[in-house]
Amino acid sequence: MEQFKANAVALKAASLGENDRVLTLFTYERGLISARIKGVKKAQAKLKFAQEPFCFGEYMLYEGRGGYTVTGCVPIDLFYDLRADIERYAAGCVMLEYCAASLQEESPDPALFKLLLSCLSALCYGGAPDENALLYFLINALAVAGYRFDFSRCIACGRRLEQKVYIDLEQGGAWCLSCGGDVKKAISPAAYKSLKFMSEAELDRLSTISVGFKDASIALGVLIGFIESVAGVKIKSFGEYIKIKGK
Ligand SMILES: [Zn+2]
Repeated sequence: MEQFKANAVALKAASLGENDRVLTLFTYERGLISARIKGVKKAQAKLKFAQEPFCFGEYMLYEGRGGYTVTGCVPIDLFYDLRADIERYAAGCVMLEYCAASLQEESPDPALFKLLLSCLSALCYGGAPDENALLYFLINALAVAGYRFDFSRCIACGRRLEQKVYIDLEQGGAWCLSCGGDVKKAISPAAYKSLKFMSEAELDRLSTISVGFKDASIALGVLIGFIESVAGVKIKSFGEYIKIKGK
């Protein structure tokens, strides 16, 4: 039985009984944990904010025989402005779901934690298009997980790529079609450039890069497909994001 504090971002909440929820928290100190939060479905609940996705705070947790329970939370940033923009909110949901899908329980990942917070800040307070922030997040999250890509040139012949290219993330980069890239799965030069730009970009410069959603969405689809095959799960919020952006 132990009481401790953890810096954490709430990733999702599931219903538990009449008044409680089970929170999935990404903690800096312990990685992913599930924690019960009591009474938060009541209208007057004091800790209602702490079960909202995106809530970043210092959570007070109690570790008992039945698992963790949230007993308090000092909010640091609720990223509340994301709620005012459905597209940015949906892009943020993909970031949260990536963390929930890729992290192991009780296994800290400080680099991903910092990346998530800086990308949520960029999404919430920065002027960059949400597709740029999401591309940047996914490319760098994969790098943190050990998947480093080089999109600067063809991985076989080393030539710069100007035509349609085949992205082969398992091999760590892009092929030109004359080197044997898969013609049927080739993507447009603009979609390829969005991957290249975002893999080389600095986070505070994302607003200076103009990609266009159509090409960015193709690049995002390639990354999400790879993540889904590695993690063996579907990133459902990505479909939602694409739907919302298409409206
Ligand atoms: Zn080549």
